[in-house]
Amino acid sequence: MRLLYPPLMQEEAAVKISWFIKLRWLAAAGVLVFAVVGKKLLQLQFSIGPFVFIGIFIALYNAVFLLLAHRVQPAGKWSDRFASAQVGIDILVLTVLMHFGGGIENPFVSYFLFHTIIAAILLPQHKADLQVLLASICIVTLAIAEFTGLLAHHHIGLFEPELYDNWKFVTVAVFAFITTLCVADLLATSITRRLHEREKQLAQANAVLAEQDRIKSEYVMKVAHDLAEPAGTITSCLKLVTQGLTGPIPEKAMDMVQRAQHKSEYLGQLVKDLLSLSRIKAVSEIPKTEVKLPEVISQVFEELQPHVIEKRLTLEQKLPAALPMVYGNAEAIHELLGNLVSNAVKYTLLGGRVEVSASNTGDKVLVKVQDNGVGIPVEAVGHIFEEFYRADNVKAETIQGTGLGLSIVKQILNVHCGEIWVESEQDKGTTFSFTLPIAGQSHA
Ligand code: ADP
Repeated sequence: MRLLYPPLMQEEAAVKISWFIKLRWLAAAGVLVFAVVGKKLLQLQFSIGPFVFIGIFIALYNAVFLLLAHRVQPAGKWSDRFASAQVGIDILVLTVLMHFGGGIENPFVSYFLFHTIIAAILLPQHKADLQVLLASICIVTLAIAEFTGLLAHHHIGLFEPELYDNWKFVTVAVFAFITTLCVADLLATSITRRLHEREKQLAQANAVLAEQDRIKSEYVMKVAHDLAEPAGTITSCLKLVTQGLTGPIPEKAMDMVQRAQHKSEYLGQLVKDLLSLSRIKAVSEIPKTEVKLPEVISQVFEELQPHVIEKRLTLEQKLPAALPMVYGNAEAIHELLGNLVSNAVKYTLLGGRVEVSASNTGDKVLVKVQDNGVGIPVEAVGHIFEEFYRADNVKAETIQGTGLGLSIVKQILNVHCGEIWVESEQDKGTTFSFTLPIAGQSHA
């Protein structure tokens, strides 16, 4: 059965492999440094040649692994084999290094532990066990071959008299070595297994939560949809009355009806925003095409024209001639710009200025919506994208709003892999900047 790795584990596997390769550069440098320091400073009695050769050899095969790492898919078919090959070759090279460095006598023999732990982290348990077996066979063979004289023992002058002459030392050292590796393997694999199980549980819990959130959004969407029509009808009926089309009514009654109309308009806007927000939250993907941003901006400007005229605002756009098309959902981008520009219009005082500009940053289109309106208090800036949040200064000025517009904007940008940020100074103005992907580029 093929193991299916969730994206998080794939990413993790790639990180671990690259970390392993980085570690090996250090090992290559360490061998070369040890060769020089051991020989010149510590005056150990080994010949420097094999160490320099092995250090360079490690660097060379690590360069090959680095090249291969870009081709091997993380957590794909070849990933385990790639990691096994790396650990296996390292164990063989370390054995050769041990041979030239005094065999089992050399305290660096404990470095095999690193490979045991790395194998336990990177590989399935049976493959990690095989690496422990390989390391054990290598060291046992080396110890027996050197003890029996089949291989020359390189004295490096660490111990006097040579521990190798003592068969009890060789036996105990080999036994200690193998049991240490086995215990380390057992501990590391069980910790790694537990971590992976935990990660899987978290991923499952996350998926359940996301699904529940989607169901909740669908529910809100249905309710909002059902409320939209009656709210619209109430507003229209009240408008007929306040415009006097149903005949004259007493002043006091007119006042009440006007208030009711005001509230029903707010209710209509709230229902509309709830519908938009729940609709965008209920989907993880939306259909995307190439979208001409200047066209969307012009449409939004046209829709807001009555408010712009009423407030005698200057509404301008500054777009470069060769602005690339963006990749997204035209309707959603229209809603996103509509929300930001209508906010700018709403929160700018009589005679103010609103400007929309866009530029190409190379891999994205950057759009700015700038106004010289009431601004956002410093303490509110961190909250404005939260659902139903409204800053105190706009509440005090009784500028009406639902507190959902920017949440919708944020959700729309989420499904477009875009980002948004804000710069604002109270009573000076606000600039919202956001990015959208350019059409025709890779959107993986
Ligand atoms: P609302 O319906 O209240 O406008 P939004 O989610 O669109 O809801 O905005 C949230 C809050 O962010 C607003 O209530 C306001 O305090 C602040 N805000 C958003 N845009 C602007 C702006 N251009 N200028 C000043 N304040 C703004």
